[in-house]
Amino acid sequence: MEESSMPLKPHCLILSYPSQGHINPMLQFAKRLLHKGVKVTLVTTKSISKTLHGSSTCTSIPLEVISDGFDSGGIGAAGSPEAYLERFWKVGPETLSELVERLIFRGPPPTCIVYDSFLPWALDVARKFKLVGAAFFTMSCAVNSVFYHCQKGWLEVPVKKQVLLPGMPPLEPHDMPSLLCDLATYPGFTGMLVNQFSNLDKVDWVLCNTAYELDPEVADWFMKILPFRTIGPTVPSTYLDSRLEQDKEYGFSIFEPDHDTTMRWLSTKPKGSVVYVSFGSMAELKTDQMHELAMGLKRSNCYFLWVVRSSEAEKLPQGFANCTETSQKGLIVTWCPQLEVLVHEALGLFVTHCGWNSTLEALSLGVPMLAIPQWTDQATNAKYIMDVWKMGLRPLVDEERGVVTSEEIEHCLRKVMEEETRKKMKENAGKWRKITKDAVGEGGSSDRNIEEFVAKLGART
Ligand code: UDP
Repeated sequence: MEESSMPLKPHCLILSYPSQGHINPMLQFAKRLLHKGVKVTLVTTKSISKTLHGSSTCTSIPLEVISDGFDSGGIGAAGSPEAYLERFWKVGPETLSELVERLIFRGPPPTCIVYDSFLPWALDVARKFKLVGAAFFTMSCAVNSVFYHCQKGWLEVPVKKQVLLPGMPPLEPHDMPSLLCDLATYPGFTGMLVNQFSNLDKVDWVLCNTAYELDPEVADWFMKILPFRTIGPTVPSTYLDSRLEQDKEYGFSIFEPDHDTTMRWLSTKPKGSVVYVSFGSMAELKTDQMHELAMGLKRSNCYFLWVVRSSEAEKLPQGFANCTETSQKGLIVTWCPQLEVLVHEALGLFVTHCGWNSTLEALSLGVPMLAIPQWTDQATNAKYIMDVWKMGLRPLVDEERGVVTSEEIEHCLRKVMEEETRKKMKENAGKWRKITKDAVGEGGSSDRNIEEFVAKLGART
């Protein structure tokens, strides 16, 4: 066969929104595609690429960059989320087109763009170059359905009363993505989340980072109306099916983990005794909430490992980080190897903001949770953690102050650490652990969907 008439090998550009919670799942998906023989190139913004600490596990995946219009400083340099998104939406498509042109010239040419659903303009770029376009959703089925209903005008916002949506438990306003209850705080982000669905009628694939079995009714509902497939959870393979060699970590981290200090400290603690506290890479807690949390941990008398990012450190009560009581019971780090922490035998409980990656990690690794959601999709994830997957408790928020008090935290910590509650949650944990493992394992629901995606990609190119 002449070289020019040979079918092109599938080559996917995997375009991620520039944040830790988006790079992690898209990079993991890229690894799964690579494992199935697809060439992959990870694409993110120049600004975030400068902050990434790489690791040897993903050197085989090349990284390319586009511009968000703020190559030095990213969103932090933009002044406001609105200013950032406006400029990104203008410069992003132009520089993505330039990248595609460069890759066509240099080879191997891309045949598909798997783009973060936060960046729907990437589909226009895919169309311009006649490439397959796949939207990748980094949030849960339920959250996607809520935003889809909103985009279609089927959901009245701001949400002020109970909402009933297909396949979901009744959702109270405090279970809804916060951006749909409080439209004024982050109008730019609200618009971005709703607009994820604006052009899906033209897309070839809608890929969602979840396991079908975690939310089958909503997944079925989506499959009836869109080319929707579940492909997750995108937790590194070592913790699930072990089919990808040496796949123990995501690979690119915006923050540098305090690995040795964390693991050394954990190794000195009794089995199941440690409360791990983390609010992910973006959430900003009220100072009042940080104080209540610190006091709640102290009152519970549990061992605790608390991730407090440098930008949040000044909100800790004065002297708390260095006092003798804290050093006897706790360790505060600026970032940690979360997966290694979650599987550690000393771990008893995860106090989480319920970011979707953290939620999937805890479900996959069988760790009970105390759900303290802060914003965006986290409240809906918290609802599912407590009422659907029955893998945790959600402390009540003091309505007047808008925080979870130290008494409530202490009460919930004691309850979850109690033998009886822990036993029940551990039983559920075993179930979800098996389900997530089976989904990505050979012939599992997500594995079959990825196989189908790869097969059609090969057929199209
Ligand atoms: N993470 C980590 N170390 C930490 C805290 C978080 O590696 O100290 C990782 C965590 O494993 C997860 C990601 O950062 O994969 C956070 O994503 P998530 O969706 O939970 O929250 P976000 O940061 O997007 O709010």
